[in-house]
Amino acid sequence: MTRPDPRFIDAASRFSAGHCLAVIRRQKDGVTRSELCELAGVSRSDVSDRVRDLVEHGYITVHTRRPSTGGRPADVLRLNSDRGVVLGASLGSTHLRAAAIDMAGVVLAEESHEVKLTTPVATRLKIVHSLLRNTLEQAGTGTRELMAIGLAAPGSVVPDPSAGRWPLVEVCRQSHDYFAARYDAPIMVEHDACAAAFAESRHPRRKAADLLFLEIDASIQSALVRGGRIHRGTNRLGINLEHVMVPAEADVACACGNVGCVGAVAGGATIMERASRAGRPVHAVRDLARLAAAGNRTINGLLDDAGHAIGGVVANAVRLLSPQAVVLGGELALSSPTLVAGVRDVVHDQVSPQVRVAGAAFGPRAGVFGASLLALESSLAPAAVNLRLGADTGVTRRAG
Ligand SMILES: [Zn+2]
Repeated sequence: MTRPDPRFIDAASRFSAGHCLAVIRRQKDGVTRSELCELAGVSRSDVSDRVRDLVEHGYITVHTRRPSTGGRPADVLRLNSDRGVVLGASLGSTHLRAAAIDMAGVVLAEESHEVKLTTPVATRLKIVHSLLRNTLEQAGTGTRELMAIGLAAPGSVVPDPSAGRWPLVEVCRQSHDYFAARYDAPIMVEHDACAAAFAESRHPRRKAADLLFLEIDASIQSALVRGGRIHRGTNRLGINLEHVMVPAEADVACACGNVGCVGAVAGGATIMERASRAGRPVHAVRDLARLAAAGNRTINGLLDDAGHAIGGVVANAVRLLSPQAVVLGGELALSSPTLVAGVRDVVHDQVSPQVRVAGAAFGPRAGVFGASLLALESSLAPAAVNLRLGADTGVTRRAG
């Protein structure tokens, strides 16, 4: 008999409806009741009770499969992808995005809106609200329930005296409160690098349970996915490569109070400043890529230097963390092949040419998809499902 998977059993060794759904979700081709008994190590009657609850609440569908070789037909249980819709949004520094996905994570609708760096947070939230309403409408909410909303909020943007810095915690709190007052669904807020990392780890081309992600923009944010989950560490802040020191640049002061941090040495804000000092004034990250593509030597040199500086930090992180893939996102990385090549060269030289270093497969939409997928996971977590079913429906798992 197949050994029961401990992930499907809760701390009190009970097989609840939520845990039953977790087993069903993992079987992409559906699962029969007998297979469920095997996988979860519970009795047929327990499985029948949980399945009945899940069907009643619309979480799963039942179809009869007739074996082509003859024999008895069997009911196949599958996640009901049409049960509800999950919304996600990302509040990037220059683009606001929203998406609606079904319960299987398939994108039903998405929208985006360009904003200025100086656009105030209150205006951004209003725009995101309107984008969310549009995607919800396009997704066709007639019979679908709005299950949850995920928001990817930024760490920081270019320090600008007129706009001021965005304190992350403040933006998260403001975003949460704004949407909680307008939608009757759980709201979860995630750091945008973490959300993007989560989406990239789930990308069909990638499917990497261990993935290191860098969002290279005006600043450099980072996130780590381990075993398919966002790694947060003891301090709950996750990893932070932005303030790892680049030894050769010990004279560059960072806003954190240290010197030589890679974020201060190789982030887009510094590259723009250096370009201006070299007589090529640049006001936005995207202009760096435009000038580089036009063959501007100064800009290409600066991007190459930045790629090598970031590459040194990434190489050390790869040695420590041994991820399956390194993914680079953020406007600067996505628009600058020179910078990405610089990072890849250093990692391949210093660690191994086997290490995969690539641009974000979801491109600039990684954050919004990640926010949607994280909200989906939270709404289908066993505890959340059991809560919706309204009772403690757990049964004690049979011994052995
Ligand atoms: Zn620093």
